Formats: sequence, structure tokens, C-alpha cells
Amino acid sequence: MEDCRHILVVTFPGQGHINPSLQFAKRVVKMGVKVTFLTALCTLNRMPKTAVFPQGLSFSGFSNAFVDGWTAGYISETFMAEMKKCGSEAVAKHITSSAEKGQPVIHVVYTILVPWVGQVANALHVPSTSLWIQPATLLDIYYYYFHGYGDIIGSKINDPSWSIDLPGLPRLAGRDLPSFLSSSNPYDFALPLFKQHFDARDEETKLRILVNSFDALEPEALRAIEKLDLVAVGPFIPSAFLDGKDSSDTSFGGDLFKKSEDYVEWLNANPKASVVYVAFGSYSELSKQQMEEIARGLLETRRPFLWVVREEEKPSWREEAEQQGMIVPWCSQVEVLSHPSLGCFVSHCGWNSSLESLVCGVPVVGIPQWTDQVTNAKLIEDVWKAGVRTTRNEQGLVESGEIKKCIETVMEGEEMRRNAKKWKDLAKEAAKEGGSSDKNLKVFLNEILAD
Ligand code: UDP
Repeated sequence: MEDCRHILVVTFPGQGHINPSLQFAKRVVKMGVKVTFLTALCTLNRMPKTAVFPQGLSFSGFSNAFVDGWTAGYISETFMAEMKKCGSEAVAKHITSSAEKGQPVIHVVYTILVPWVGQVANALHVPSTSLWIQPATLLDIYYYYFHGYGDIIGSKINDPSWSIDLPGLPRLAGRDLPSFLSSSNPYDFALPLFKQHFDARDEETKLRILVNSFDALEPEALRAIEKLDLVAVGPFIPSAFLDGKDSSDTSFGGDLFKKSEDYVEWLNANPKASVVYVAFGSYSELSKQQMEEIARGLLETRRPFLWVVREEEKPSWREEAEQQGMIVPWCSQVEVLSHPSLGCFVSHCGWNSSLESLVCGVPVVGIPQWTDQVTNAKLIEDVWKAGVRTTRNEQGLVESGEIKKCIETVMEGEEMRRNAKKWKDLAKEAAKEGGSSDKNLKVFLNEILAD
């Protein structure tokens, strides 16, 4: 008889959340367990209709008052409250109606910023686990912040001469800590949402959290906190670019923006390891002035570049830039990063972008903006030694000269390229059949199926 039990995966509807959780869902389905993927309807409606997903993966959306389009400024207290209301109702409804139909949800998996999913599941007696889509290091930092280190971090984070040794983590300066911990953070709703991930723990057992990372990448951070059982199951990258197990799995399948068509041909026409790829994720957070500095820095390198500039931005320097490089509104980033002509990645260091650069063996020039990006940039530079982080001037701007200098350092730095290649090999090793992440995910699935 067909096994109708399934897992419900619930995610915040941003691109950086959709991509890893979709990949997680695809991997689970390929291991023989059905998944329903639930997120905001406006996001589901924007995903490409042509994407092919494995059998056993179905989608469900909750409607809400959101408009189309995503900018960081759009995410407000009201937005989050609205999502909690609509999302909670949808999770509860899915769980009860599936049970009535004889297709019970046996486990709920939810990503960051939506911890209320765990509470709804709990109230309906369905077990749940969070899927942490940032590095384990970030999870540790938040844990320490809420368990004894909050006062010291809160009072010192803006002091440039201060740094802290948190057990199991590299020494971190204030500028390396996630921006939500700073008193000047304007997103008041964020920290309580992170805290709720830890509140799910009861006193007797360790709290298990799945992490989009792999054992060899963060061996200490994954084991730093005794009360947490961090299970590395990443990196979540389409199989064709990772383990090659499924050559048809070439994209996440959840792009919220329309891709350009002609960049592969342009990449093909450039020499090996020559192109500077520039992209800052799915939110437009950079000021006009900062974009101008980047444009000048790129032009001064005289190197070919491929730059993702969102369609809503109409920069004055565009015409000049297009004489030296190519500007696209959106691309398949993993496809670009794994192209042989790629030389380096100028990135905001979002966690997906950071992992993708490691998996593709491309060194990074980091221009982090906020949230985990600053910590990711620190890890890339000082721990994984696969890139450099740019320095801001007193006005908080990364100047063109600094950008040019960092691009030159990375393009000419043999060691960073070698390290990036090492992480690429280790990521593939973790993801392959019998590798650490593959085994960890199988153990997790076997356990929840046996419950
Ligand atoms: N991305 C893409 N094409 C682009 C720019 C970004 O496919 O032109 C993808 C990228 O591969 C990554 C995601 O969008 O998977 C961005 O996630 P990340 O965590 O790096 O940044 P965020 O958007 O959350 O700031």
C-alpha cells in the first residue's frame, strides 16, 4: 500500500529562504519521503511554471496582504504579524485536513523567521524541527547572546577596539557580529524570532536543529554548544553543481525574478578565470552612492564583469559599464559560479551566495551589509581563507579604490583560489552517497519515520 505520510516544509517567502528549503525538500523526496512545501502564495505564484520537481513534492500557499516585490525595507512588524496570522492558520489547516484524508503530516520542518510554525505543530501534537539556513556559527552566536552573553555583546558591539571569544568560535569583533544584535538595528521584531527557535527546547533533551552547512566546514561550531544537537545536512545546492547524482537538477526551481538569456554565451566568450561576477542577492540594499563606487571600482580593474543589477534600478553609469562588462537583471547564479570563466565573486555574502561560491570553488570579495552577512564575510576571510572582506570609510561607504584593490588581491591570490577549491572538494564529499550530510539526513529521516 502506498505510504501517504508526509513532511510539511514551511518557509519564509524570500528568495534566500525558498532556495535552500526547496533543495532540502527535493533531497528528502528523492530519499523516498513525500513533502508538501508551504509558503506565501504571492511567492509561489512568481516561481517559474516551467520548473520540474520530483514526484512526491507538492506545493501549498497561504494568501495574505503582501504586494509583489521584495526589498529589505518592506519587512516590517506589521508584515511579520500578518504572515504569522495567515501562516499559522494555513499550517493548522494543512495538518488537520491531511489527517482527515488519511495522509498525515508526520513531521514539520520550518526555516528561520517563522518559529510560530513549531508552536502550531506542537499544539496539534505533530513533532517539528527547525532548518537553520545560516551557518552554524550564527546559530551559536544567537544562542550565546540569549544565554549569558547578551549584556556584554549589547554594550560593546559598537566599540571598534572590542572583541569577544565565545567558546568554540573564532574571536569576533563587533563588526563581525550579526547586525540584529546592535542597538542601532532598526528591525526590532528580528531578535525575538531568533530566540523562539531555542525556546522549543525542553530541559531534558538536546534540541535538534538541521543546518545548511557541512561537518568539514564548521567542525567546532557544530559541536560548540552541549545543549544543541546541530545536524549538518547541507550544502543545499542543485545536484548537478554539487554531487552530480542528478544531472537534470540544474536549478533551485524557485526563481522569483525573470532571468536574462544571453549571459552564458557571453561567459563562453571570455578566457578561463577572467570574469568578475557581482551580485548582492535578492534584496536591493545598496545605496545609489555605493553602487556608483562599485561601478567605478570595476571599471578601474579593466577586467570583464557580469553584474546583476535589478531592473528597478536605473543607474547613470550603466552605459559606460556595459562597454566593459555585462549587466543582467537576474541569472542562474550557481550556473554562473560554476562556469570556467569565473575569476571571483563580489558578493554581499548572504549565506546561500557564500555557500554557492565555496561549492563552486570561486574566491570572494565581500561587501556585507547586514544580518548574518558580516559574520559570513568574516568566516570567508579569516576561517576558510577563501576571500577578502572590504573595509568601509568613515561614512560607511566602500570606496572604488578599496573595491579595485580587493578584486586584484583575490584575482591574483593563488592561495585563496586553492582554498576555495579545497572547500569545493569537501562540499562534494559531504553531499555524495555515504558522505557526512547524506548520512545525517538519512539518520534524521529514519528517525522521524520510526516515531
Ligand atoms: N540568485 C540567483 N540569481 C541572481 C542573484 C541571486 O539565482 O541573479 C540566488 C543565489 O544563487 C542565492 C539566492 O538568490 O541562492 C540569494 O540568497 P542569499 O542568501 O545569498 O541572499 P539574500 O537574497 O537572502 O540576501
